[in-house]
Amino acid sequence: MNILIVQLVPPSHAPDRPRFCHELGLAVAMLRRRNLEVALVAMSDYDRDRLRSAVTRHRPSHILMDVPPHRHTLARHTIVEIAERHYLPVILVGRYATSQPEQAISIPGVTALIRGEYDQALPRLTAALATSDLSPAEVPGVWFNSEEGLVRNVPDKPTADLDTLPHPDRDIFDYGRTVSAEHEAAFRATRGCLNWCAHCLNDWYIELYGRDGYLRRRSVDHLLAEISAVVERYQGIQGIVFEDHAFATDAEWLARFAEEYPRRCGLPFRCRVCLNAVGQHTAELLARAGCRQVDVQIGSGSNFIREEVLTLRTSHNQILNGVSSMKRAGLAVRGMVFIGVPYESEVSVEETLDLVTALKLDEVVPRIFFPIAGTRAAEVCAENGWISGRGEECFYVPRSVLEMPSLPAERIDEIFHRFHALLRSRSGHSLAAWWRRIRKLATQPLHTFGRSRRRQRPRGHQ
Ligand code: SF4
Repeated sequence: MNILIVQLVPPSHAPDRPRFCHELGLAVAMLRRRNLEVALVAMSDYDRDRLRSAVTRHRPSHILMDVPPHRHTLARHTIVEIAERHYLPVILVGRYATSQPEQAISIPGVTALIRGEYDQALPRLTAALATSDLSPAEVPGVWFNSEEGLVRNVPDKPTADLDTLPHPDRDIFDYGRTVSAEHEAAFRATRGCLNWCAHCLNDWYIELYGRDGYLRRRSVDHLLAEISAVVERYQGIQGIVFEDHAFATDAEWLARFAEEYPRRCGLPFRCRVCLNAVGQHTAELLARAGCRQVDVQIGSGSNFIREEVLTLRTSHNQILNGVSSMKRAGLAVRGMVFIGVPYESEVSVEETLDLVTALKLDEVVPRIFFPIAGTRAAEVCAENGWISGRGEECFYVPRSVLEMPSLPAERIDEIFHRFHALLRSRSGHSLAAWWRRIRKLATQPLHTFGRSRRRQRPRGHQ
């Protein structure tokens, strides 16, 4: 059996450079252990010639796709083209297959899909498709169009001990090119997440597997062994990034990591931190380990939007305390906020600007909210009739796809584009703020002018 992975990469990405994906890399490692031929072609848009040349070169028997959440339309178009032009069956895995299986299995050309984590199920499915000893209908987690109709199998429990898994294959992603372009290597210490954010597809996995045992963590040794192997194999890595949202949620694990990482790797790293799970101790452990920057999800300054709409479960005080703990520990903090979340208004935007100004973050990343199909936040938008006809390309432009009476799309786009200018005007560093100060001085009565100048003098110089 010969598998060609068709990877849809973001339009901003180099059109032919694969994007490293932990889950796919792991699946490739598992398939190669079974001596299966696996190749990959990356496309930022449907590229008929590129696909044809990949099919001619690799002669696959099956196509495998892990469809990104913002590329459903492109994926459907690509799958239909694959079926009509190349007569190749497509297997779908990942978040789209997990959250929208009915829609995914009904695309002409899709022969099977796997719901949930696919590192165990995919090798079994490929074995079943390659021999007659096992039927795909017997593989847990697989949805399969059989002669008797659609088979919907419930997934097995996910892999409990992550140390039993091989390291993800990176060569298939041409990882040397990624390192040359980004000078960083990406890793994950955990799988699963116990949070329940409304804009994320994580709750589909919690629904499949339950909360007990869903968040799993590799041992420090297993993680560091992978880091050493990757740093040795791909020259030019200057930093490490831990992409998992639960990376820093276990203080005991982090304490051991802080002991071992500087000794066995020592490259500066950045990671994500959940503000509802960070205190001074965690911040200091991160700093001691060699962390330089943390990425935090702030979401919104409005308590209603953050806690009720996005269900981030992070209170205003947790944000203030978490950020100040990390700053005290000497970590740079980069915060992400959404603009144009369901129920957003001028008032909630002001609250976001207020909060971000008060936090004095090292960097702020504003994002226009995009309702990912299958999320609870997208359901709220659909129920209220707020989803416009604008398509997925808006995620990358970026433009709002929502039409909400409380904040029109044009205004959301405008706030997004002016976000940093709005912040500067609040913190007093803008030209407008500077001009306001000059005008204030110029129009200040003379008797108060002198007094205010004196107040600024250091003591002892009266
Ligand atoms: S913390 Fe991250 S991974 Fe977890 S539910 Fe929220 S957005 Fe998803």
